Amino acid sequence: MPRSRPRPEPIPLVAPWLGARERRLVAECVRSGWVSSRGRFVDEFERRFAAYCGARHGVATSSGTTALHLALLALGVGPGDDVLVPTLSFVATANAVRYVGARPVFVDSEPETWTLDPAAARRALTRRTRAIVVVHLYGHPAAMDELLALAARDGLPVVEDACQAHGSEYRGRRAGSLGTIGCFSFFANKLITTGEGGMLVTDRRDLADTARLLRDHGMSPARRYWHPRVGFNYRMTNLQAALGVAQLDRLDALVARRRRNARRYAAALAGTPAVALPPEAPWARPVPWLHTVLLRGASRRARDRVAAALARQGIETRPVFYPISALPPYRDGSRRRFPVAERLSREGLSLPSSPHLTAAQIARVCAALRAALGAR
Ligand SMILES: *Cc1c(COP(=O)(O)O)cnc(C)c1O
Repeated sequence: MPRSRPRPEPIPLVAPWLGARERRLVAECVRSGWVSSRGRFVDEFERRFAAYCGARHGVATSSGTTALHLALLALGVGPGDDVLVPTLSFVATANAVRYVGARPVFVDSEPETWTLDPAAARRALTRRTRAIVVVHLYGHPAAMDELLALAARDGLPVVEDACQAHGSEYRGRRAGSLGTIGCFSFFANKLITTGEGGMLVTDRRDLADTARLLRDHGMSPARRYWHPRVGFNYRMTNLQAALGVAQLDRLDALVARRRRNARRYAAALAGTPAVALPPEAPWARPVPWLHTVLLRGASRRARDRVAAALARQGIETRPVFYPISALPPYRDGSRRRFPVAERLSREGLSLPSSPHLTAAQIARVCAALRAALGAR
């Protein structure tokens, strides 16, 4: 008699790793009553996360997006300014540019890193360019030497959107410490989480001080309730920072697991020519955030059909972002094309990426992917 097969256990795209230490530190906030944005964990998290990145100062924020907003404000970017932004990123990268009244100028990606193409960035520079925002997409660092040299020629600051790149290394230095300011997100699906939250890191005291002032309602640190500027409430709470401190203690282990999982995916998919593995430049030591592959030559619809076939097996995936330049708020009617970003967006599929994935789960994902592609 045919037996009904048990539904396969679902594999989510990515889930945070929270445990006893997180519970204990959050409970300590509740017990002590320090639940708002004052308390010992905010300072500790700022200090230790900045040190982890190799930067002098950390300013904890309510999100990665508000960290980006504060970074551009601290740099004095505003109306009339152009900011170079990779078109292939999460939309918040460009939204932050709009928040300060500046114009994002979109730049294509390079196939070697999937991040901002230095040659295309050079062609996009004009006299109105005031800053360059680079994004270490999916945890692979951008070609920083070339981009920093380009920026230095015109004295431009470089903001690293490192929201997907905690711990990722460029020639032995960590993401976030390479440019003028680095911005991180601690949203639940990022490398480490505080629920919602973010941080800006920098070596420059003046920028950290300005960002902190603007984060705290623009209030002077020297004179209570004196507000020299219109600020924001972009603070992180002590509750969130308690989670952050506990997660920081796990960061090395989380990084090691993601790298191991990337190796397992690479080994399992190496013999499948229809699938291109994510890039790894010789000078990069990425921390894969989402394990993202390309379905070579696939149309958007073919890629989405593969995703639907995986979903029927309980395997959650995610398409690569649309180029931001194609989204309604950013379409400018120009016929400019971004061939690399468009291809990555069309062919790209992020596979399950939780740090606690097992070898058996990875094997199941790869088998289902091969079956959906009709490959061996
Ligand atoms: C997640 C993310 C952000 C925004 O971070 P939030 O904490 O969600 O505001 C910005 N840029 C990139 C590249 C991201 O992945």
